[in-house]
Amino acid sequence: MIKYYEEPAKQIPVLIETDILVVGSGPSGLSASIVAAREGVDTVLVERYGCFGGVISQVGVEGIAWYRHEKTVEANGIGNEFEKRAAEFGGTAPEPQSESEAIDAEMFKVVADVMVSESGITPILHCWAVGVIVENGVIKGVITESKSGRRAIMAKRVIDCTGDADIATLAGGPYTKGPKDKLMAVTQMFSCRGVDREKFEKYVREKLKPTYKDWGGKSWGQSDATGNKDIDLFSPFIESPFYQAQVDGYIPKEENIFLGGTWSTLSPEGDATQLNMIFMRHIDCTDVWDLTRSEIAGRRNALYAIKALNRYVPGFEKARLRNFGLTLGTRESRQIEGKYRLTEHDVYNQARFEDSIGIFPEFIDGKGHVTLPTTGRYFQVPYGSLVMKAVDNLLVAGRSISGDEIAHCAFRNMMCCAVSGQGAGTAAVVSLKTGVTTANVDIRMVQDLLKRRGVRIH
Ligand SMILES: Cc1cc2nc3c(=O)[nH]c(=O)nc-3n(C[C@H](O)[C@H](O)[C@H](O)COP(=O)(O)OP(=O)(O)OC[C@H]3O[C@@H](n4cnc5c(N)ncnc54)[C@H](O)[C@@H]3O)c2cc1C
Repeated sequence: MIKYYEEPAKQIPVLIETDILVVGSGPSGLSASIVAAREGVDTVLVERYGCFGGVISQVGVEGIAWYRHEKTVEANGIGNEFEKRAAEFGGTAPEPQSESEAIDAEMFKVVADVMVSESGITPILHCWAVGVIVENGVIKGVITESKSGRRAIMAKRVIDCTGDADIATLAGGPYTKGPKDKLMAVTQMFSCRGVDREKFEKYVREKLKPTYKDWGGKSWGQSDATGNKDIDLFSPFIESPFYQAQVDGYIPKEENIFLGGTWSTLSPEGDATQLNMIFMRHIDCTDVWDLTRSEIAGRRNALYAIKALNRYVPGFEKARLRNFGLTLGTRESRQIEGKYRLTEHDVYNQARFEDSIGIFPEFIDGKGHVTLPTTGRYFQVPYGSLVMKAVDNLLVAGRSISGDEIAHCAFRNMMCCAVSGQGAGTAAVVSLKTGVTTANVDIRMVQDLLKRRGVRIH
């Protein structure tokens, strides 16, 4: 039985007042806040950790556009700027399975700092949003906790880019979240130093020869609704050495933890910077006990994985731990129930919407699906999926927008989070400038502004 403690009411200082408040600085939050500030609107960006970038810089995910092939079409919005600016900083390397750049997660911290500062955003780091101020169904601000204490931030528009829909949930908005055993796995990302790149690449070329046939291996399961058209393309997926190490009793096999996955950049100096190889199931990332358990188990299993790599994978014999992600990586938690709920049918059938705020290629990755956008097919992202039903002037962007679990496997991808972020930031600006709420914003004006900023919406 849960015990309760009655927290006494108290007055708290207002930390800052702003026009637009964006909570969370992943691909969606960076996009929303930067585009809003560039339109000359007072914008505050609040982030719970010490750097901007969300999963890129905090978890260490490099592949912002690893789906991109010759025929892929996409929205061309601010997401592409992240790639370009990171390249200008020398913070990218060719991504091994696509026509894109893998982003150096460490350098991206600086890239994000610079883009935030250039746009004129007021940044606030080390600050958690923990409550909301809602009056008569309209959001007025959020309550935060930081080393400065409990503080309110008052805002005319709020954009929830926390990934977990924290603000929308605190505001009482309805959401869905699958049962624990159906949620996508969480990952402790790690990297290694001391890799003999040439030797490993020879092993990959001559022995492993991984393609999308292997994708997901024994643990993920896979299907491609477009008829397995890309099954023979190269995919940097490796699982057999871990499996063998477990069969040989060289490393333990823990319940609900799967070893195997992808690598990305291999530097000439012998760094393997994104080893996405620890998949932990039955974890709810909105539960502090599950988070604690899986952080610890993730680190333990990364060491098992390195032990297996040392013995079974040519080129990794002398590899050592270089670092862990700053935090565990969450793929799936809450989806808001917005004005429109994007569906599996939409993302697989090139859905078109009158309130489109951008497009995303037919790229679906997760829940046993892997479909690559090698055809030029794409779907539109509707504004309705960002709009909270219950609370006005509160928009949601990123991986927690409204959609079913397969649509989520498309819109959770970082470039699509940038699309929804840019759409939300732009809609908030237009709603402010025209004096209407976000629920009543003139979508044609939002689309016009997006188009003027180079976004493809149709
Ligand atoms: C291990 C892993 C590998 C992945 N691989 C890929 C890949 O290769 N390519 C790809 O495109 N996608 C990949 N994804 C998916 C993608 O990274 C995420 O879906 C995407 O980053 C979500 O973006 P977002 O902006 O919604 O949220 P996030 O990137 O999660 O950012 C949310 C931000 O909000 C902050 N925050 C959260 N709560 C609060 C709060 N209450 N107060 C203040 N701040 C808060 C967080 O610290 C964080 O900075 C991967 C995900 C994981 C976990």
